[in-house]
Amino acid sequence: MNLYRIDKPFILVIFGASGDLAKLKLFPALYSLMEQHRFPKEFYIVGYARTQNTRENFQKEFKKSIESNSKVDQTLVKELTDHVHYFSGQYNKLENFKKFRAYLKELTGKTQITTLAYFSVPPIVFKDIIQNLGETKTSKDEDIRLILEKPFGEDTASAKELFHFVARYFEEENVYLLDHYLGKSAVQSLLHLRHSNRLLNLMMKGPEIANIQITAFEKVGVTARAGYFDQVGTIRDMIQSHLMQILALITMSIPITEDPASLHREKYSILSALKFIDSPKNIVMGQYASYTKEKDIPKNSHAETFAAMRLFIDRESWYKTPIYIRTGKKLHEKHTYIVVELKKFAFQPKDEEPNRLIFELQPNERINIRLVNKQGQTSRYQEITTSDSLACTGDDCLPEHGLLLLDVIRKRRLHFLSFPEIIATWQIIDHIVNFIKKNQIKPQKYQDFSEGPATQNNLTKIDGFKWFDIH
Ligand code: NDP
Repeated sequence: MNLYRIDKPFILVIFGASGDLAKLKLFPALYSLMEQHRFPKEFYIVGYARTQNTRENFQKEFKKSIESNSKVDQTLVKELTDHVHYFSGQYNKLENFKKFRAYLKELTGKTQITTLAYFSVPPIVFKDIIQNLGETKTSKDEDIRLILEKPFGEDTASAKELFHFVARYFEEENVYLLDHYLGKSAVQSLLHLRHSNRLLNLMMKGPEIANIQITAFEKVGVTARAGYFDQVGTIRDMIQSHLMQILALITMSIPITEDPASLHREKYSILSALKFIDSPKNIVMGQYASYTKEKDIPKNSHAETFAAMRLFIDRESWYKTPIYIRTGKKLHEKHTYIVVELKKFAFQPKDEEPNRLIFELQPNERINIRLVNKQGQTSRYQEITTSDSLACTGDDCLPEHGLLLLDVIRKRRLHFLSFPEIIATWQIIDHIVNFIKKNQIKPQKYQDFSEGPATQNNLTKIDGFKWFDIH
């Protein structure tokens, strides 16, 4: 297979290069691209952060983070590290950006070169960087592409404000809004699979479906981002972007072409039609027992580390089909899957198991579609695997940030979010968060490494269904 190789020189500036995301995700992703010989001869990886550091020391940190993540080829590491540079500056000082731009010009010897600006910083810093980058553009058409990682704002108002702010300095087509879930090859396969499988799509229509369940269990608790997580909780951290995106990809109409505008339009039409019926019965929140003993977490924190909710899509084709979402931290397993439960025939006995389509996204990036059928006259059920394809095999596998960086270089916007989608998801999340506040719903404690609060079962019971657990 011919792998795409970048053919033009470019600069990748990583703002916040001293932080976690850079070390845990970006540097290893860059090594994967190097391993697959995706880079051109000329490219520059430039770390920018306030932390004082030398180029040599930053290169050592860069190397260390790659080595701690995978088995590496030292020759390639050396070759990659030779492209790594560092500049220390503030995010809110125009003077520092002017010096930085002069530094880049000297480094590359060029005034015209594609520059990817990766925002690996907390959202509080976004506007400063946008403004200073905007104000130091060498020309109106300078090819600067912004890569902003979610979260985009913390509610509808702040997301709108952020997008208006960005628009003052950059065209929308130069802004890549990244949710790393959309870089997972299994999530990307979901789209391709739906696009190419008529049989599957015939089943994935509202009138055929009894309910949809989206589960994202994590085994880890809050990690380094404890302070941030405690401010937002899992509804805004996990559900607002990652799980809403999955919901949209599963329930949207299939766009005829895979062009980004069509896909964004279809996702938006679902996300803007999401409905939460105001009742405490439709939401369950939990907090793992040891949460308030974690570093940087206030003893009296009410942040939810588990949430389950019952939603609907206000569209004729999805009328009355419940969608259940649940996610939590420090649970018994790391597992992300979607269960689409098909309707039964009216003549089928009530206690007979329904057919289900199951898409497993984590921990194995594998999509299993299993039809559960009754075998003959017995009460045993058979699993038919209609598709059991590894989402990614062979040499072309890349971690999510690697795939998405290549997309930015190629100006492919398919796997990035659009402004309207983000606003639509914030609107439904704001509605739910306000409902929780107004009704003073507090998270229930659940044991570390358990299955989460038992009350999650009440949600599906409302409609006479059960969560389908995959073991
Ligand atoms: P960090 O908290 O590690 O911050 C990154 C860098 O930004 C720091 O090293 C620091 O660099 C600078 N920084 C931190 N706080 C401030 C502040 N208050 N004011 C100015 N600069 C600050 O963040 P992460 O690397 O974990 O995440 C970066 C972005 O990616 C965030 O928006 C996060 O929400 C998002 N994200 C992170 C994920 C992860 O796995 N870590 C996953 C998904 C999204 P210096 O002081 O040297 O300038």
